[in-house]
Amino acid sequence: MTVARGYSDPARVAARAAALGAAPIGRSVDGRELVAIRIGAGERVSLVLAGIHPIEWIGVEVALALAERLAAAPPQDRRVVIVPVINVDGHAAIATDVAAGRRRYRRTNQHRVDLNRNFAIGHAPAPAWFPRQRAGLAPWSEPETAAVAALADGLAVDRAVALHAFGRMILLPWAHRGATSPRHAELVAHAGAIAAHLPGRYRVLHTGRWPLFRPGGLELDWLTARGALTMLVECGRGGLEPLRPSTWLEPFRWYNPADPAAEVEALARALEPFVRGDEAR
Ligand SMILES: [Zn+2]
Repeated sequence: MTVARGYSDPARVAARAAALGAAPIGRSVDGRELVAIRIGAGERVSLVLAGIHPIEWIGVEVALALAERLAAAPPQDRRVVIVPVINVDGHAAIATDVAAGRRRYRRTNQHRVDLNRNFAIGHAPAPAWFPRQRAGLAPWSEPETAAVAALADGLAVDRAVALHAFGRMILLPWAHRGATSPRHAELVAHAGAIAAHLPGRYRVLHTGRWPLFRPGGLELDWLTARGALTMLVECGRGGLEPLRPSTWLEPFRWYNPADPAAEVEALARALEPFVRGDEAR
């Protein structure tokens, strides 16, 4: 899998997660296991979600690198709960595509639902004549999002990070409304501190700033509405290279840079203080 060199395929994700004590939290449409890694001890929880969009493998790498850093010195006053891959069926399908040399773009689960439109906030149901497209018929219609909801319902989550690709942006709520969230200033301080420790100029942006793009059903907004300080990180700048036409035709490469190790490490290091519960600095 030349295109995916430097990334963890499903077997490697499972092995790294298992080494960190991952436990099942549910099953996908096709019956694959979703797992969560729990590190540290305490009532308060930081939740880290990745792999909800299956082609965004760099986010999965960051989640695992962050988990491995935390496990080396587990926090004593809070737990960090990490779901490294939410769309496990899609992640497996991408691995198969890339190994077979198929240049396929995938964003949805096996019901063709974009899981990051399926959370119970600002949900815009799909039309009845095409019920399975996009956001799904109802919030939590998909087993993958339902598993995340059930996980979060049992936890006192007060901080959260959703890992996506690409664009080198830290996106702040709300996404489905033009307003900023009640704790916007606090979030800006945290996101600014994280961006300051990252290479390549990450921008901190209010997601709802674009009047024509205010999607509902995002994990970002759902966790914010539950009182968690939440940010969505678009990891990396993608892998499109204007002077290398082979990259123009490769969806995996659009989202995931070749040789991601340095940026993955920088992201994990920069996000670590936030998920540990530190003040912004
Ligand atoms: Zn995404």
